[in-house]
Amino acid sequence: MREIITKPFTGMEDEALICGRCGYCRSACPVYNVVGWESATPRGKIAKAKEIFSQGKQTELSAEFVQRMAQCTLCGACAQECSTGIDTRKMWLELRKRIAALGREPKAYKALRDNLQEKKNISNFSNDERLEWAQDLDDPAVLKPRAGAAVGYFVGCVSSFFPQAAQVPLAIAEIFSKAGVDFTSLGGEEWCCGFPLISTGFVDEARQFIRHNVDKIRQLGIHTLVASCPSCYSVWKEDSREALQGYDLEILHTTEYLVRLIKEGRLSLQEIPETVTYHDPCDLGRTSGIYDAPREIIRSIPGVRFVELPHHREQALCCGGGGTLQSVDAALAAKIARLRAGEIRSVGATVVVSACQQCEQMLTAAVREAKMPVRVLDVSQLVLEAMD
Ligand code: SF4
Ligand code: SF4
Repeated sequence: MREIITKPFTGMEDEALICGRCGYCRSACPVYNVVGWESATPRGKIAKAKEIFSQGKQTELSAEFVQRMAQCTLCGACAQECSTGIDTRKMWLELRKRIAALGREPKAYKALRDNLQEKKNISNFSNDERLEWAQDLDDPAVLKPRAGAAVGYFVGCVSSFFPQAAQVPLAIAEIFSKAGVDFTSLGGEEWCCGFPLISTGFVDEARQFIRHNVDKIRQLGIHTLVASCPSCYSVWKEDSREALQGYDLEILHTTEYLVRLIKEGRLSLQEIPETVTYHDPCDLGRTSGIYDAPREIIRSIPGVRFVELPHHREQALCCGGGGTLQSVDAALAAKIARLRAGEIRSVGATVVVSACQQCEQMLTAAVREAKMPVRVLDVSQLVLEAMD
């Protein structure tokens, strides 16, 4: 395996000059593997971006290029493979920002931005309903915002509002209660983390969301934050630094926190006799470098036979659900998910575990469509099963 070192991003124009057109990125790209056009490859997009932006030809920005830029899951597989170390994922974010600045972003992005500004979340529901899912807990009040709690659980929009994902926050809240964790949430004061805005080019608009959430965490005096969504986690970890300056906040993904609870002996795990595989979410793995924690959790459950997927860790295939691709091309996203479902079938797993609610939705749809006898679970659901 080649050792890849992605270097710091120095701006679109500089980075585009470095591209040697070798094409290593091409075969790693799930979009290219489905679409099959050179214009959909990372290499092809960089060449076009160079032509438009480096030569000041913004007026020639074509609808096809805008579409190609939106047909990307921001999975980072191209950055992982780039022979010259270009952080292509940052390149795509920068280009989406420039397209938005020219007012040429897809209509779906505008609708997403407007909805977020009105509702403060990605659903059609009022933000006051953020804790509706908690009604299924024995004690829903446990999530009520409370100053001074040891841990703040940042639930995320998908877990809060999408019924298909509700089992994830329920599992996390139940595990925390059983383990005696002193935890709370921001309730209706939790706003979208800002990632959907960042990923569609509305970076300035995202700042208001980041500042709001940071202010609420500070007001509650929370010093450990646990996020179950890898995109929320990456925003807290990377994009909230400025807003968090001078405030001591430990930021953990649920997988990291569950490992801590296991090591402290606070979770008693019983046998699960299943063949389990793990799908690395792009934003948790390639974006944030968390590969070991979920595997450590799965392996700590007695009776589990753990098998890796053919592409795993840094080389993991995307589920198709990233980069807001579904909002512009749901069919393409579903085709990418089918490729991953094929890998799951090949290892004979009875359970596929992930650590991202968006991945879990994509994979659930793909394995159902393929009529595969496989359960798709979040790592927290697997842990709760082992505790029952
Ligand atoms: S981020 Fe993923 S989908 Fe986008 S160009 Fe790179 S490999 Fe393709
Ligand atoms: S791997 Fe890197 S250098 Fe090679 S074509 Fe792709 S972006 Fe350019």
